Amino acid sequence: MKYLVIGHPIAHSKSPQIHQAFAAQFKLADFSYERGLAPLEGFADFVADFVARGGRGANITVPFKEEAFRLCSELTERAAAAEAVNTIKIGANGVLLGDNTDGAGLVSDLLRHTSLANKRILLLGAGGAARGVLLPLLAEGPLSLTIANRTLARAEQLALRGGIMIKASAFDALAGEFDVIINATSASLAGLALPVPATIFAEKCLAYDMMYGKGETPFLAQAQQAGAAQCIDGLGMLLGQAAEAFYVWTGLRADIEPVLAEMRVAL
Ligand code: NDP
Repeated sequence: MKYLVIGHPIAHSKSPQIHQAFAAQFKLADFSYERGLAPLEGFADFVADFVARGGRGANITVPFKEEAFRLCSELTERAAAAEAVNTIKIGANGVLLGDNTDGAGLVSDLLRHTSLANKRILLLGAGGAARGVLLPLLAEGPLSLTIANRTLARAEQLALRGGIMIKASAFDALAGEFDVIINATSASLAGLALPVPATIFAEKCLAYDMMYGKGETPFLAQAQQAGAAQCIDGLGMLLGQAAEAFYVWTGLRADIEPVLAEMRVAL
């Protein structure tokens, strides 16, 4: 069984380690999962070559998620809603089924720490990751969902997709308190905190940064200073989206806990 994670760059990807660990849980001896560096202008040809070589599935990462969405002839509902594909399942006839497991990964990780029903959720960012998690978050029945973004128009556009209960805001115009605040911007990658008021963190607020790495992210440092009760990085989301992709391909539910613990130590 051949699987790949396709991106550019790709050397940093932890996906091979994660999926090999999942496969080991089920003793899948013929499972192979490697990194694929696709040329920036040659994603479709790269995928076609992988299909011709007997590939069964692929994870898609930066910068190809939107291109993968356009390439797949079949889409799951959640991939269609996200307009981005992070998981491709290759059918026996070579048909590409596009899926998006980022939202399921985030929600499963959040639910390990808190419930989302009747919570006031704030989603910071309106890029691909925010699009992917919007519907899965709404499916948990929050009291309200607000999207704030540096470019307000993108937040407004995304809010329209979620329906009437979604509000859009600029960072500095945010008012009131939130129980769950999710950073889906790439600001932390650039080492930047966000220009949001410190008053938005409710007393028992859970702050979540999709980014992960050694030490605290700038957003989580900001949240902690503002009094957030729980500050969680995106490593669990990474494992959650991988476990969901593994399930899409194999029908097997991997246990993320031992893999998460091992990776946390290795960060
Ligand atoms: P995109 O490039 O699609 O979107 C980037 C978002 O970040 C936009 O909303 C953009 O705002 C905002 N942004 C960028 N720079 C800044 C800044 N300096 N200040 C404020 N806002 C900023 O990226 P993705 O949505 O694909 O990824 C977002 C983050 O999520 C990344 O850090 C990525 O690593 C992480 N991620 C983690 C996953 C996991 O499994 N843990 C899975 C997927 C993503 P604007 O619209 O104004 O440009």
